[in-house]
Order: sequence, then C-alpha cells, then structure tokens
Amino acid sequence: MFLKILLMGPPGAGKGSQSARLVEDYALTNISTGQMFREAYRRGEPLGEKAMAYIKKGELVADDITNEVVRQRLMKKDADRCFLLDGYPRTVEQARALDEMLEKRRSKLSAVINIVVDKQAILERMVGRRVCRTCGLSYHLVFKPTKKPSMCDACGGELYQRNDDRPESVRNRLDIYEKKTKPIIDYYHGRGILKNIDGMQSFENVYRDIRDALETLT
Ligand code: ADP
Ligand code: ADP
Ligand code: ZN
Repeated sequence: MFLKILLMGPPGAGKGSQSARLVEDYALTNISTGQMFREAYRRGEPLGEKAMAYIKKGELVADDITNEVVRQRLMKKDADRCFLLDGYPRTVEQARALDEMLEKRRSKLSAVINIVVDKQAILERMVGRRVCRTCGLSYHLVFKPTKKPSMCDACGGELYQRNDDRPESVRNRLDIYEKKTKPIIDYYHGRGILKNIDGMQSFENVYRDIRDALETLT
C-alpha cells in the first residue's frame, strides 16, 4: 500500500519529531513546507526571502506561494508513491488545492493524523525548542536535551532558536492556527481518514499511537 499521510497539529505539537521516525520506518518522502522555506532562506533564494518576511512575524506564507512550492515538490519522482506532508495544508484553501493536485494524479490521502495537545504544553514546547541549523532536527532544552550543549546528536550541527519561536510570534501563530488551520479538521472529518492522536504523552507513546492508527489502514 502506498501511504500518503498528512500530519497535522498546532505549532509545537510534535509533528517534526514524529515525522522524523515515520519517514524512516515507512520509507516515506518527507515534505515539510516550513523546512523547505527555511532551507530556501538559508540558501539565499528569492522564495526564502519572500517566505521569511511572513514567517518572522508568525504569519502564514501566502497560499499561492505555498501551493506552488508543494505542487512542484509533488511532481518529483520520489513523491510519486509514498509521502508524508508535515505542516501543509494549513488553510482550507490549501486543502482544496492539495485535493486538486492529487485528483489530477488519480490519487488521494491515506490518512490525516491530527496530534492534539493543550495550549500550556504547546507554549512550553515551543519556548524550549532548539533546532539543528544543519539537519533541521528539533530538540528541547528540558524534554529532549542534546548530549553535548548546543550540538546536534545526529550531525554535530549547531543548535539555534527559530526566530518565530519567540513569545511575540508564538501568540500570533496560535491565533492563526485556531482561525485558519483548525477548520481543516472539519474539512477532512467526513472522509473517515482523520485519526486524532493524544499528543500529551511521551515521544514514544505518541509514536506508538500513530503507528497503531496506521496499522488499521493496511
Ligand atoms: P511549526 O513548527 O509551527 O508547525 P513549521 O516549520 O511547519 O512550523 O512552519 C514555520 C512557519 O512557516 C509557519 O509559522 C508559517 O509562517 C510558514 N509555513 C509553513 N508551512 C506553511 C503553509 N502550509 N502555509 C503557510 N505558511 C506556512
Ligand atoms: P512541530 O513540528 O509540531 O512544531 P516539534 O516536533 O518541533 O513540533 O516539537 C516541538 C518541541 O516540543 C520540540 O522542542 C520537541 O523536542 C518537543 N516535543 C515534541 N514532542 C514532545 C513530547 N511528546 N513530549 C515532550 N516534548 C515534545
Ligand atoms: Zn543535526
């Protein structure tokens, strides 16, 4: 079975942490729009500059820019069969655009995994998050510390705090999540592919529940 998974949840819910394992265990192509924007910015590409103007403020990048990035990414051969979308779609407009892209390929999503976390935990997770500049893995000062201070366990890269993880942006991102992204849950609800996962557990147990949900598909 060719898994096409969408990973949803508020910022800081643990999408990136779980996707790192999922893509390995299920051999999925990882498509994270946030990560693609950050990489484009780091490489000095015009797309990165344009996207970072929104990201810095905690706003969503415009739908037309984001949809185009995903459309091009999905056309690559490695996204033909199995993929995991992390952080896209984030608006109902984007969800519709994704449906169109998939319909054209006579394809559809296998599952929408929605990680549910309460607001207090989101704040704690985002404020303590540190990300590897080189490989993009995320750590946490308290919940997932690195072995050596400020150095990625996986690649030795330097850790940094994303500029949109500072308290000023975090509040804005949570508001936007409630207003623009949460409605997508209803959009998918009627299709029977939505799996709500309790994200208020350890990394391990969240992963176990996601795996269990995916096993019911195969
Ligand atoms: P988070 O950890 O908050 O889920 P991401 O790395 O997925 O963050 O995204 C970081 C930022 O990149 C978002 O706050 C937003 O500004 C931008 N972004 C990422 N994905 C999208 C998208 N699908 N639509 C619009 N903006 C996006
Ligand atoms: P997202 O991609 O949804 O924004 P991340 O995977 O980057 O979220 O996780 C946000 C922060 O919370 C990171 O610092 C991560 O280490 C931490 N985190 C993720 N899942 C858990 C968990 N189950 N328990 C404790 N901390 C977690
Ligand atoms: Zn690294």
